[in-house]
Amino acid sequence: MEHQLDQIDSEARRELEASAGDSQKLQALSVKYLGRKGVLTQFLRSIASLPPEARPGAGQRANAIKQRLAADLAAAVEALAMSGRGATPPIDVSLPGRALVCGALHPITQISGEICDIFSRLGFDIVEGPEVEKDYYNFEALNIPPNHPARDMQDTFFVSEAVVLRTHTSPLQIRTMEKQPPPVRIIAPGKVFRCDSDQTHTPMFHQVEGLLVDENVSFGDLKGTLTAFVHQMFDEQTRLRFRPSFFPFTEPSAEVDILCVICRGQGCRVCKQTGWLEILGSGMVHPAVFENVGYDATRYTGFAFGMGVERIAMLKYGIDDLRKFFENDLRFLSQF
Ligand SMILES: [Zn+2]
Repeated sequence: MEHQLDQIDSEARRELEASAGDSQKLQALSVKYLGRKGVLTQFLRSIASLPPEARPGAGQRANAIKQRLAADLAAAVEALAMSGRGATPPIDVSLPGRALVCGALHPITQISGEICDIFSRLGFDIVEGPEVEKDYYNFEALNIPPNHPARDMQDTFFVSEAVVLRTHTSPLQIRTMEKQPPPVRIIAPGKVFRCDSDQTHTPMFHQVEGLLVDENVSFGDLKGTLTAFVHQMFDEQTRLRFRPSFFPFTEPSAEVDILCVICRGQGCRVCKQTGWLEILGSGMVHPAVFENVGYDATRYTGFAFGMGVERIAMLKYGIDDLRKFFENDLRFLSQF
């Protein structure tokens, strides 16, 4: 028994010496002697079969050898790591750190902010309001009575008979005029909701609505304001075209086109070969709207306009699918 342990001990020392400097060999050595089926582990298990008087001595001796071997192995592994040749690679403190990846604002938030900045510089205040809106503010006060055909133009999400998810940010016109007398100069950015979904429509999108009311406000002021906006949003060369249109809350009404930013009027797929792109709706505030908020329609005039933020972003960046904005694909979003 003594003899067997001496043999294991001297053999292990010899092998350890031969393995120093090789992490794989050291690992194998650890398994060979100390592993679950290792030489020393097996020996300790076999002690139970020895005569009782021999057991304590053999056990102590075997455990001492095992502990020393474990300590020697650990020391050899550490020495190897310190020397830079071990399994653990040495640390190169001169390497540059990993740069933190910074997020950015969503392109819609960026464009919405840009639109607000331009109108802020033109003297407009920014107002916000509820996304769940009373039918009265979303339709009735804007000269869209029940059963008016214009209600069919906007596929509405109804919360209840008298409450809707706002289909435009125009309710802010009414909410603002109810609270203050003229002059009014506001823009209302925010989410709007319509029951519609395809390549150019999503159930939720963003709008910026504008309203200016004062004495002697003319259609010329509307044209001047929107021209200044388009020139700042796109560039000074961008031409505008005002086209007669219809909205219940403005009279006269006009849709505004800009010369196609892709083909510069030559005709392309984006502008459907017309050379023009529609970017917003506008008009002079309908007297009936002034009546609803108690403004004197014989003394005050005003203009209103509304645009889709996604539409502006698509034109500005040349994006052809609206849904890309809401898929949260970082490969798309990180380009802005
Ligand atoms: Zn074009």
